[in-house]
Amino acid sequence: MTDTLKKDIRDLSLAELKSYLVSIKEKPFRAQQIFDWIYKKGAVSFDELLNLPQPLKDRLSADFLFEPINIATELTSEDGTRKFLFDLTDAQQVDSVLIPTKGRTTACISTQVGSKFGCRFCASGIGGWKRNLTPAEILAQVLHVRKESSDGRILSHIVFMGIGEPLDNYDNLIRAVDLINGKEAMELGARKITVSTSGVVPKIKMLAAQNVQLELAISLHGYDNPSRNVLMPVNKKYPIEELMSACREYVANKKRVITFEYIMIKGVTVTPAAPAALKKLFNGIKCKMNLIPYNKVDEFAHECPSVKEMTAFRDALEKLGIHATMRTPRGRDVGAACGQLRHVHGKK
Ligand code: SAH
Repeated sequence: MTDTLKKDIRDLSLAELKSYLVSIKEKPFRAQQIFDWIYKKGAVSFDELLNLPQPLKDRLSADFLFEPINIATELTSEDGTRKFLFDLTDAQQVDSVLIPTKGRTTACISTQVGSKFGCRFCASGIGGWKRNLTPAEILAQVLHVRKESSDGRILSHIVFMGIGEPLDNYDNLIRAVDLINGKEAMELGARKITVSTSGVVPKIKMLAAQNVQLELAISLHGYDNPSRNVLMPVNKKYPIEELMSACREYVANKKRVITFEYIMIKGVTVTPAAPAALKKLFNGIKCKMNLIPYNKVDEFAHECPSVKEMTAFRDALEKLGIHATMRTPRGRDVGAACGQLRHVHGKK
């Protein structure tokens, strides 16, 4: 097999690995052994699958890739947030962020190289979209961050809020999530995994029907069509009413609260009209709001409101009965904060 046709071993589910093993006349129980090495013990090469017979290791490395993690740059913020810039095999790059906070350790993971969505405040979309990440590339980030977080801290949460639109790479995302969540692999509870989307309505509906209890976060960033259109071109394709109806479906099917992320930009999203309009938009949906102070991206002329204005905005929402918390930006000094990931320390 030529390398370009080969899959990475982490692209396979346990069932697929078992049927491969049967096809080469090996015992299917070896599949779980291989999974234990990769997903439980953190092996990063075929050589590290220690209790496997050498001929099987040789056969595996002839038939599959096990791409090593290549870290181009690693930066640590003064708040302890760490950003890893990965070199992919085709010279593309993506970042992952390790965020240690009180009581939790979160990995922020990328799902695509670049983004097609062109949100007019986000650095990830500036260079356009290059390609989807494979399940193995998504998992390699998670495994690496988990390894790096092991100094007394255990990786407790994963947020798909790195570069790219997770729901625009749906199949690979679900494959990766199955292995992050599955007992046979990393065993991280589905409720500790958050998928954040700019609002790809058909895929939200698909996720609502999927048999996994993921946390869903919607990048709302507007309170009606005109305000959302200003920042998010995706709203032209999937207007806010359709988005809200998909959200209602998700909440109904999963019996889960949905999170609306809301970027705070002076005069654009933080306006006197916004709180009441949001109340009307939500119309009783079980939700909470995560207010994100706008992180400066040079290409856009927006401004973050003052702390006083942001607090007043949150208070106005709370007064209307909307549960809203303000996110503290982490890793700003190393370009690791929300929407800042764009390889500024690597290649452009
Ligand atoms: N494409 C997905 C996930 C990646 S963005 C999505 O749109 O949700 C992750 C979060 O960072 C989103 O809520 C996004 O709107 C927010 N974000 C992007 N740029 C930002 C910026 N400059 N300041 C603050 N938050 C930003």
